[in-house]
Amino acid sequence: MRYIEPHGHMVSRTTDDYIDMVTAGCAAVCEPAFWAGFDRSSANGFFDYFCQLTEHEPKRAAKYGLPHFTWLCINPKESEDVKLAEDVISLIPKFLDKQNVLGIGEIGLNKNSRNEMKVLEMHVDLAARNNQMILVHTPHLEDKLKGTRLILDVLKSDKRIKPERCIIDHVEEHTVKLVLDAGFWAGMTLYPISKCTPARAIDIVEVYGNERIWMNSACDWGESVPLAVPHTALEMRKRGHSAEAIDKLIYQNPIRFMSQCPKFKMPVA
Ligand SMILES: [Zn+2]
Repeated sequence: MRYIEPHGHMVSRTTDDYIDMVTAGCAAVCEPAFWAGFDRSSANGFFDYFCQLTEHEPKRAAKYGLPHFTWLCINPKESEDVKLAEDVISLIPKFLDKQNVLGIGEIGLNKNSRNEMKVLEMHVDLAARNNQMILVHTPHLEDKLKGTRLILDVLKSDKRIKPERCIIDHVEEHTVKLVLDAGFWAGMTLYPISKCTPARAIDIVEVYGNERIWMNSACDWGESVPLAVPHTALEMRKRGHSAEAIDKLIYQNPIRFMSQCPKFKMPVA
């Protein structure tokens, strides 16, 4: 089996996780900028984090032969402080030329608040001005449908943004159609306690197909499973999905989406 982990918060994982992932067939990992589990006290904390994502973590991943890519932003959970968000967003352009940066993410909404909307629009403008791809986080549970609609409206109303260069992550049964119908890519997050279980994710693929869709573990510092993608692939095999269809979903699709950024390159085997 071969697969890409298109959404893993590797700075909070151990070297054992890297070994397990590579052993299971992981061929590249992509790490969107995220909440640290606590609020950072200043823009300097984000500066250090962006250095970690663009310089240090790629070196750690390389020790296990794993190409590491990243996306930069201030996450929606820390977007209530608009002044802090402005300061952080002003730091990002100087990191955009770094070799492993694919775009702006994971941006989006958490509680669908007015300030979060403001910061989302600032990020979308930053991406548009710098011709960057976008990775979007959608809110949890009861806020998800409304939040997804709000995010899609922001993206669709900016004529500079091409839907095929944006992925809307953490889709579930009630949001996936909205995302795909509007021409965006959809990400399904495999979590043990919230978001999609493997069984639900496979149901979604069986209903909506495997064209503009990928799966990720979104493994982070919380309860999450770094091997959720290969585990789900095994589950798909048990359900009778062909090796080819599985390979498309977990390997070829992430490559197809991310290759829209010329910096995304898989090593030649
Ligand atoms: Zn994430």
